[in-house]
Amino acid sequence: MLEVAGESRHVPSHFQRTTLFLSAMRHHAAWLRDQGWRVAYVRLDDRKNTQEFGSEIVRACERLAPERLTAVRPGEHRVLAILKETADGSGIKLTVKEDPHFLCDPGTFNAWAEGRKELVMEHFYREQRRSLGLLVDNKGNPEGGQWNFDKDNRKSFRASPRPPKRPAFTVDAITREVMDTVRRTLPDLPGSLDNFNWPVTREQALKALDHFIKSCLPRFGDYQDAMWLGQRTLYHALLSPVMNLKLLNPREIVDRAVRAYEDGSAPLNAVEGFVRQIIGWREFIRGVYWLEGPDYAGRNGLKHKGRLPGFYWDAETDMACMADAISGVLETAYAHHISRLMVTGNFALIAGIDPKAVSDWYLGMYADGVDWVTLPNTLGMALHADGGVVGTKPYAASGKYIQRMSNACEHCRYDVTKRTGEDACPFNVFYWDFLIRHEKRFSSNRRMRMMLKNLERMSEQETTEITVSAGRLRRDMGIDPA
Ligand code: SF4
Repeated sequence: MLEVAGESRHVPSHFQRTTLFLSAMRHHAAWLRDQGWRVAYVRLDDRKNTQEFGSEIVRACERLAPERLTAVRPGEHRVLAILKETADGSGIKLTVKEDPHFLCDPGTFNAWAEGRKELVMEHFYREQRRSLGLLVDNKGNPEGGQWNFDKDNRKSFRASPRPPKRPAFTVDAITREVMDTVRRTLPDLPGSLDNFNWPVTREQALKALDHFIKSCLPRFGDYQDAMWLGQRTLYHALLSPVMNLKLLNPREIVDRAVRAYEDGSAPLNAVEGFVRQIIGWREFIRGVYWLEGPDYAGRNGLKHKGRLPGFYWDAETDMACMADAISGVLETAYAHHISRLMVTGNFALIAGIDPKAVSDWYLGMYADGVDWVTLPNTLGMALHADGGVVGTKPYAASGKYIQRMSNACEHCRYDVTKRTGEDACPFNVFYWDFLIRHEKRFSSNRRMRMMLKNLERMSEQETTEITVSAGRLRRDMGIDPA
């Protein structure tokens, strides 16, 4: 097992993300040793550590003289390429095994995708439900007569919500030692370590699962898309980091959720919505990642070249929604899916920021950031930079969406009802500017018709004002390309 600084530096990796990965690794190594395995382990501060994955494999091969290398499919094309190059260079045979912590391997996904004009998650999800036998009857019909209960899952809060308190996960001696080492050897990482509260062992991960199923799942569906200032976790599961670290298997998670529905402790809209995230979205996104290949990372379908503004690193902005979303990420390495998609992601899309810069930020700043998930979710879904592979229409929205789903606009210096003028909400300015800039490109997209119709009603004077305001905002926020 290798702890290498290069993996925390190829994109700036949040203090908590780095600590979480390394602490989980050290706990796992200790568990393996307890089971009687011999583990070769290189620590971040080992004197001879070359701090790069490839050169450390070479060093390990020199020390251990293995007959062959066996790896589970990694979460990144880059890492797979390093493994292959290193094995070739050392003349050692490499075997890559499929990862049992996913429910659909890339070969099965590719077979499903073959010959389809469009990859539609909903179609994939229905097949997953049937093949895994989840929430379907013996004829393959969906439980409750519908595949999807999304229309029930869009409630917002009328008053300050009081979600259940998250369980506390003890920071033990191993995690404390990792924290000290990370602070000492990688002092420039972004984010804060102060509120570290992530499960790093299987036992802690099971405690997190138990808490979600019993305390959050019943209301998860209703408030899946809701936001509230200062409330970062609400009824969300926060299980993606432990799934990505293989501390929990997705199958055991969805089985627990379905059992909660069967015993009457959680409603169908919540359980179906949650199951869809795990067996639908999660697997679909990973399938797209391996299907599309390494070139996917370079796509920029909308030709956006803007720089990532400084406030993505320090939350210093007057936009209340963005300040809240980003400070949450800096403090906890987490934000829930709507905050990621409709606040930080939506802003980057409509402001015209370079998709690679945004994807790298998502990869490094979240506790669950792994390339297979952040790349299609960010570059594809949030930024529509993949030419429509993940989504047939961009998730562009004005401030109105944020106003409807949160209380942020009541605490903002900008006016969410305005789209021009000094105090106009930047989400409004950039949303209309986005439509103006891409009107021609989207004119043949059926799903964009309503949005573009509204644009047609705008006077020429107003479109000019919006273009000028957007240009000024881009300059002031440091978005304009250098
Ligand atoms: Fe965000 Fe605009 Fe609302 Fe301010 S007014 S919180 S910038 S959506």
